[in-house]
Amino acid sequence: MTPIELYIHIPFCVKKCLYCDFLSGVFDEKMQRRYVAALCTEIKYQAKLHPGCLVSTIYVGGGTPAWLSEDLMDAIITTVKQSFKLDPLAEISVECNPGTLSAEKLNVYRSIGINRLSIGLQSANDDELKILGRIHDYNRFLHTFDLVRKAGFDNVNVDIMTGLPHQTVQKLEKTLNAVTMLRPEHISAYSLIIEKGTPFYEKYKFDAVKQQAGMDTEELPTDEESYRLYKFTMDYLASKGYERYEISNYARNGKICRHNVGYWDRVPYLGIGLGSASLYNNVRANNVRDIYKYCEISEAIESGKNVQTELSSPYFESEEELSKKDAMEEFMFLGLRKINGVARQDFFNSFGIEIDAIYGPIITALRHQGFMDAKEGRLFLTDIGIDVSNQVLSKFLLD
Ligand code: SF4
Repeated sequence: MTPIELYIHIPFCVKKCLYCDFLSGVFDEKMQRRYVAALCTEIKYQAKLHPGCLVSTIYVGGGTPAWLSEDLMDAIITTVKQSFKLDPLAEISVECNPGTLSAEKLNVYRSIGINRLSIGLQSANDDELKILGRIHDYNRFLHTFDLVRKAGFDNVNVDIMTGLPHQTVQKLEKTLNAVTMLRPEHISAYSLIIEKGTPFYEKYKFDAVKQQAGMDTEELPTDEESYRLYKFTMDYLASKGYERYEISNYARNGKICRHNVGYWDRVPYLGIGLGSASLYNNVRANNVRDIYKYCEISEAIESGKNVQTELSSPYFESEEELSKKDAMEEFMFLGLRKINGVARQDFFNSFGIEIDAIYGPIITALRHQGFMDAKEGRLFLTDIGIDVSNQVLSKFLLD
């Protein structure tokens, strides 16, 4: 059986955060129910299109999936189990935000096999949470974390952010200290990115440009300060026993996120739900991004109408077969995000050619410059290589 991963998108949030450009919005319960019914139809449809697959991980992301009532989450996971063959040891993760969980909900989660939770804290400083437009304060997070542990979850991620407006090393230290004291198994530390189309873009766009140009900024940290915050996070988490296994991800006791490692290793995945991306048989595809159109496709399938399009799924709005060159580039871009990099043998197994025959001169040059190293059949970026990973990875583009 072919191992695959499932990503399931829940595009609902209690309120839109000011920096967020994810495909999510505020919808009432009626729309949530309509969407989940459509999602279950797509799950069944995709399972029929992909027989012979073994699901190794499920990641329910968003949005705020935990905002759904427990019967809707139950319907989603039960439909996956009824439609696909699921590895008995599958990792099943759900994203949640402080204030969207209850003891009852968590009990249902456990009973349907959800075994990993990812909580979006972002900061332990209430003033920073306010700036970000989050719905919670730090106390609310503590309450949620306590509920999660009491419900018996022993694989928990906490998301934090660096590079926030007015963030200092002292403020970041407070967040890191507060989080590591709770001993979650996993911490993701992302840098704030000012995305077009968000209220943050309107407010901080000039600062963001100055930051990129290495100039003095007004509210965002300068480029140099951002680097200091990033380094501080790395060193602090290492001192507390969290091992960095990807540019922004840290785990203790080996509790890495198997789903994300699958992405970086190019394990085939199916994206189910609004705007989700899939990679299967070397074809990259994206689902439609209009929620009403998405629901109508499922409703047409349910009513037995012909929904065939020229693409291989009626849910797709785009589909592209990757060339060997595209796939090789992607192998390097994604694989080198991992701290242990890529295996020469995996490259050969994927493409039938030695990695040096394609990238030999680039690898030699990067090793010579100290950006890359090799050990036990693996190639990986050094610390200074990771610091300038955008420039380094761009060298792996093929003409
Ligand atoms: S909760 Fe997450 S997905 Fe929803 S608006 Fe905030 S950052 Fe975006």
